[in-house]
Amino acid sequence: MHPETRAARLAAPAPGQPVAVPLYQSSNFRFESPQQLAEAMTDPDSFAYSGYANPTNRALEQAMADLEGGEKSLVTASGSSAIAVSLQTILQHGDHIIAQKALYGGTVAIFNQLVEKWGIEVTYIDGVDANEVRQALRPKTKLLYLETIANPIGHVPDIPALAAEAKQNGLLTAVDSTFATPLLCRPIEYGADIVIHSATKYLGGHHDVVGGVAVFAGNALYRQAQQQAVKLGVVADPFAAWLIIRGLKTLPLRIARACESAARLAERMAAHPAVSVVHYPGLPTHSSHARATKLLSAYGATIAVEVHKAQRFMSNLELIMNAPSLGGTDSTAMHPATTSHRHLNADELRTAGVSQDMVRIAVGVEHPDDLWADIEQALSPKRT
Ligand SMILES: *Cc1c(COP(=O)(O)O)cnc(C)c1O
Repeated sequence: MHPETRAARLAAPAPGQPVAVPLYQSSNFRFESPQQLAEAMTDPDSFAYSGYANPTNRALEQAMADLEGGEKSLVTASGSSAIAVSLQTILQHGDHIIAQKALYGGTVAIFNQLVEKWGIEVTYIDGVDANEVRQALRPKTKLLYLETIANPIGHVPDIPALAAEAKQNGLLTAVDSTFATPLLCRPIEYGADIVIHSATKYLGGHHDVVGGVAVFAGNALYRQAQQQAVKLGVVADPFAAWLIIRGLKTLPLRIARACESAARLAERMAAHPAVSVVHYPGLPTHSSHARATKLLSAYGATIAVEVHKAQRFMSNLELIMNAPSLGGTDSTAMHPATTSHRHLNADELRTAGVSQDMVRIAVGVEHPDDLWADIEQALSPKRT
């Protein structure tokens, strides 16, 4: 063979069983015959084209289904696409959604677009009592949409009560569990049909990948969502899945450390005179504290604080970075009203519980004393 052909056809040796999950960075897979290829194209358990399915992605999908106690899962290009695929799978023109008020800003933006473009209406509830679902019901209600720990104020809805009420009325329940991860809460055990994650956050955990996961309690809904993801072209790239797998291996260690540090920092901030409110469900003063204690194994690693001159506090931070994302090894701070929730008008901001004085601190794995020293100096900087 010529060098051109030999270069094009280099192949990996068939190895023994590797310790790490291999990265199958291949857009397609070869078969012995056209019949085998044709069969593979329609067999959901085989791998033909990575825009449909890929072995590295499948490793992550199986791990997430297992951790969440679901039947199947789907790895997508982002958390937002996991949300969009789930909504497109469930909803038709003219349908109705019941959603909790405190939600990730990007989700509210998606809902607003559903309202404008598809005539899908949304009723917002607090999410503390099953009666709210009953009262919001309409003939075309299809979906109850919740967040386990709401971004950024840490609201925790009563998932078991709300999901039971939804099921009784023929609705599906989707829960964005990005802030909880499967280590703190498994919404499927509380009656959810779909659990959504932005894997960009805790699952990936190292600030180097954007991705999403949707976990399904049942196979039928998964199949529909999988076809939807293929049509939209939002199946995850294998390299992204591979990075998320790498992150997932240390998730229990990272989340334990970050939650422990967050609890300590929340207490210290609550006692600081320059802080007017600390929104952290681990504090007994938080309105969701009782539900969080019942439903979560820890209170999460994200704290929203209200401070006088929020922007100045953020500029004063030195160790904690001004950055928009969360859930990684490095602690970050951001101003929700002008970043994650910038699409919301004043009314919607009030509904989501986001004030102009609010700063969201996402606690990483650094030593908590170093984080506190930084927060303390930023709250009361020494005059020079
Ligand atoms: C970041 C985030 C999303 C969106 O995920 P991307 O990966 O950025 O698309 C959805 N839900 C929550 C709760 C988030 O924090």
